[in-house]
Formats: sequence, C-alpha cells, structure tokens
Amino acid sequence: MIGENIKHIVETLPAGVRLVAVSKFNPNESIMEAYNAGQRLFGESHAQELVPKAEALPKDIKWHFIGHLQTNKVKYIAPYVSCIESVDSIRLLKEIDKQAAKCGRTIDCLLQFHVAQEETKFGFSMQECCEMLASEEYKLLQHINIVGVMGMASISDDPAQIASEFTQVKNNFNALKSEFFADNPSFCEISMGMTHDYPIAISCGATLIRVGSGIFGERMYIKH
Ligand SMILES: *Cc1c(COP(=O)(O)O)cnc(C)c1O
Repeated sequence: MIGENIKHIVETLPAGVRLVAVSKFNPNESIMEAYNAGQRLFGESHAQELVPKAEALPKDIKWHFIGHLQTNKVKYIAPYVSCIESVDSIRLLKEIDKQAAKCGRTIDCLLQFHVAQEETKFGFSMQECCEMLASEEYKLLQHINIVGVMGMASISDDPAQIASEFTQVKNNFNALKSEFFADNPSFCEISMGMTHDYPIAISCGATLIRVGSGIFGERMYIKH
C-alpha cells in the first residue's frame, strides 16, 4: 500500500521534481515500506522524532527537517539532517551554522516564506529575507548553504488562490536568485506542495514536493 502510493506519485513527477515523503507521526515500519519501494528522501517536523528515526533506520536515507524549528532544538538534529527547509530567521540560521560547525559539517537550508493567508504559518517576508541576505552577520556564516526556498499555501478549496501563493514563492526564488545567488548553482530548490495541492505546486515550478498523508494515510497525531 505505502510502496504503491510512492511508486504512483513518483511515476507521475516531471523530470526535475523530487518527492519528500513526509513520515512524521509514522512508525519505522511504515518508513521501511517506503524505503523498500526505493524512497530515500524523508521529511520530519519534530526534532524528538527525527533523531531516533535517523539513528535506527538505514544511513542512506536523507532527512529533511520541514517543521517550525526552535533554536534550542537545532543541536539535536544537526548531526542527522541533510536539509533544514524551514529557516525563518537570522537567529535560527546562526544557530544552525554554529551546530553544523560543531559537527564538522555544512547543512543545506531553504528559506521559508510566509505566503498563506493564515497568520499562524511561519516564514520570512521578502523584505526581511533580503535584509538578512545583505547583512554582515549572514556573510560570516561558513557552515550553512542556502539551496532555495520553501512555502506553504493557504488551506483553501480555491485552486486559483493556491496557485497565486505558489507563484509568489516562485517569484521570490527568481528575485533572490538574480540578486543574491546569481553565481551559485546550488541555489536551485523550490519546495512547495503537499498531498492536496502538489499538482498545482508542480505547475507553478516546484522542485521538491512534500507529501505525507497521500503516502502513509491519515496521521494519528501524537503529542510531543
Ligand atoms: C505535514 C507536512 C506536510 C505533509 O502534509 P500532507 O498533507 O500530509 O501531505 C508537508 N509540509 C509540511 C511543512 C508539513 O508539516
């Protein structure tokens, strides 16, 4: 079932779009079903869940951290994550840099933008983001590598609304690319789209989609 869901989604992805299988709240056995179907890229949104999974599961899995990240949790995930998709402040980025240095690594990061109507979602405004990228503090960071942008659309039944928000993420990517990353080919990722809106995200330029319930079924929420 999980393996079939993975294969079905991956088959339909255009070239240049990769699937992040969002395994939060799902047990290791379910992740192994996806792994055995060939999936190697997984997304988790809680530090206390990512760490034991990363320790127990095969080492060729790449873990993306996709949830809101508190600075005091960075140290736990720094040895394990291949990418932190949810960077939304210079304070967080500086902590990631510090913890990555301690592990002797460089951590890939995406800049998260707030484009949805819900106030509860996290992310930079374009102005805040540009101020950060122009700052001296940012230029000093040696152990982070910004590889693109991430965004979440509003929870909405209106495809035009969702498409306009994803287009905003894509436009932000283009603007940052030309202003700050023109000679940096590793700045190439646009992470957007979840189970219910990933086809729209792909049509708006996504390179990474983050699908959870469409693979693993509806989640049983556990409290952290
Ligand atoms: C949970 C989550 C997803 C996956 O959501 P589904 O609707 O289950 O596909 C994607 N992105 C983020 C940031 C999430 O927290």
